[in-house]
Amino acid sequence: MTAKILIIPGDGIGPEIISQAANILDELESSCGLNISCEWGELGGEAYDRTGSPLPESTLKMAKECDAVLFGAAGGSQWDSLPRHLRPETALLRLRRELDLFANLRPAILFPCLATSSTLKDEVVAGLDMMIVRELTGGIYFGEPRGVETLDSGKRRGINTLVYHEDEIARITHVAFEIARKRANRVCSVDKANVLETTELWRQVVSDVAESHYPDVELTHMLVDNAAMQLVREPKQFDVIVTTNMFGDILSDISAMLTGSIGMLPSASLDSSQKGLYEPVHGTAPDIAGQDKANPLAAILSLAMLLRYTLNEGELAMKVEQAVERVIEKGMRTPDIYFTEAQLVGTRQMGQEVRDELRLLLAWSGWKFIW
Ligand code: NAD
Repeated sequence: MTAKILIIPGDGIGPEIISQAANILDELESSCGLNISCEWGELGGEAYDRTGSPLPESTLKMAKECDAVLFGAAGGSQWDSLPRHLRPETALLRLRRELDLFANLRPAILFPCLATSSTLKDEVVAGLDMMIVRELTGGIYFGEPRGVETLDSGKRRGINTLVYHEDEIARITHVAFEIARKRANRVCSVDKANVLETTELWRQVVSDVAESHYPDVELTHMLVDNAAMQLVREPKQFDVIVTTNMFGDILSDISAMLTGSIGMLPSASLDSSQKGLYEPVHGTAPDIAGQDKANPLAAILSLAMLLRYTLNEGELAMKVEQAVERVIEKGMRTPDIYFTEAQLVGTRQMGQEVRDELRLLLAWSGWKFIW
């Protein structure tokens, strides 16, 4: 069966990094006959400027019909003053919601040769390998009522609502435990159960699911403030973290810095049938857009996740990850991960180097690297 992939570059550095990931897809098609068909769509500020909508209906339709979406990033200050429903960020939230992508997977792995790029000491981060599983379609980012209202007193009041149904908690818990079973068999559930009733329910449901379905997996609970501290104190204690939408948003950015650069971090957002949206963790980086400075590796590693989680091509995913690691080992560095003895390369050259390594690896079998 031919897998349908929708490619959406987005704004800022999005087109630069996604074209490098698309080149890797080309290589997989030409070197090993990967059976895919690719369509291109638009989402974000540029899409709004061109069509009047940050999420054109044609993009939404293609996204619903495809097996996976490979996305760059959306947003920029020129669109910040638009009404909220027309902003690029809202379009992305809507796409995730429409596709029911409730599980966001963010691996944080430190390639050994990048240990010096982290702001933390080598011994704290070297060998780091953890996965944050973030609930993505519920919680305070979507809860109603929401908004800013003016009271009779003339003072304004802002409202957002933190709400979770037990089914939403249970399904993300299953995702986290299934992943843990393929890793080190440990899940840490992060909440704020000492203050927020919603996360008291979160803790109960996670515990119930763990007890009835995953007695073989170790479960611990941690309050989010402590989790933030532990992530910078002793990050290697974690295997899989499962948490709410907002806590996951914040904790995964902390984990981004553990690995040296946000330009290295991929992510996957999945529904219950392996359909997924794959995108780098970073945004549109307007400060470096159009300068051939962006690191394309997060986008390429997001493609590797697409191969693994939607196409079930684990071997090919490993080859892509291995190609990335070999290029890094050879000392190739975009500016975000550069150090003095390294070879400074731009976005295009970095992408080309990975493609060349991949071609070699596909020609002969190398060692395996597993998320
Ligand atoms: P950002 O991630 O775009 O940039 C933060 C810093 O990281 C910048 O210094 C940038 O140069 C650097 N950086 C990011 N990606 C990089 C890469 N691949 N290579 C090298 N350096 C990289 O975050 P921001 O500046 O807070 O946001 C900029 C815009 O992106 C905003 O409009 C924001 O709303 C949007 N955004 C979009 C997404 C998304 O589409 N998923 C996510 C986050 C932010």
